Amino acid sequence: MKKLEERIQKDGVVKEGNVLKVDSFLNHQMDVELFNEMGKEFKRLFQDAPINKILTIEASGIGIACIVAQSFHVPVVFAKKAQSINIDGEVFSSKVESFTHKRVYDVIVSKKYLSPEDHVLVIDDFLANGCAVMGLIELIKSSGATLEGVGIAVEKGFQEGGRMIREQGIHLESLAIVESMDAATGKIQFREQ
Ligand code: 5GP
Repeated sequence: MKKLEERIQKDGVVKEGNVLKVDSFLNHQMDVELFNEMGKEFKRLFQDAPINKILTIEASGIGIACIVAQSFHVPVVFAKKAQSINIDGEVFSSKVESFTHKRVYDVIVSKKYLSPEDHVLVIDDFLANGCAVMGLIELIKSSGATLEGVGIAVEKGFQEGGRMIREQGIHLESLAIVESMDAATGKIQFREQ
């Protein structure tokens, strides 16, 4: 999506450790007009899928997922990060290793909000090594729901997540794929799509 690529070029900041900061329009301050266009683009890309629910992960995915959900006219469920889980049978849970914080945590979704009748689109802001998305997919599998696809705002194509997910035959759409980025020069290159 050209508009997102242009915004990343203009306002994105490349940090050491393969981190792209987009706090001014995506992760801290949020450009809702841009999110709206991203939502329409995801709707176009997944138009043939019978999606009735969007699943994302706390916290940075929630804003985007909510605006995307307006294009699909479906509810959003976000997986909550839990310090410790009560194994009381009320929740589905999986483990996620945080790319930005380098620690493992449990994510949970109440069994009330994911069931075998659901056709789910996973939405997240970034795809790096794929841990967050794989954790969400595990929750969907545990619930018996159908995974219809994964929509990502910014994929870092030089990390493993995208390849891993596509190899599993999952319908993955990333609106911008960063092919390379350099903290020293600030240069960002995108994959042609
Ligand atoms: P993964 O689980 O694919 O390794 O990482 C995805 C998660 O880590 C996303 O939910 C996102 O919050 C965070 N993340 C990964 N890479 C970046 C990055 O370069 N910039 C920002 N802002 N977040 C990132």
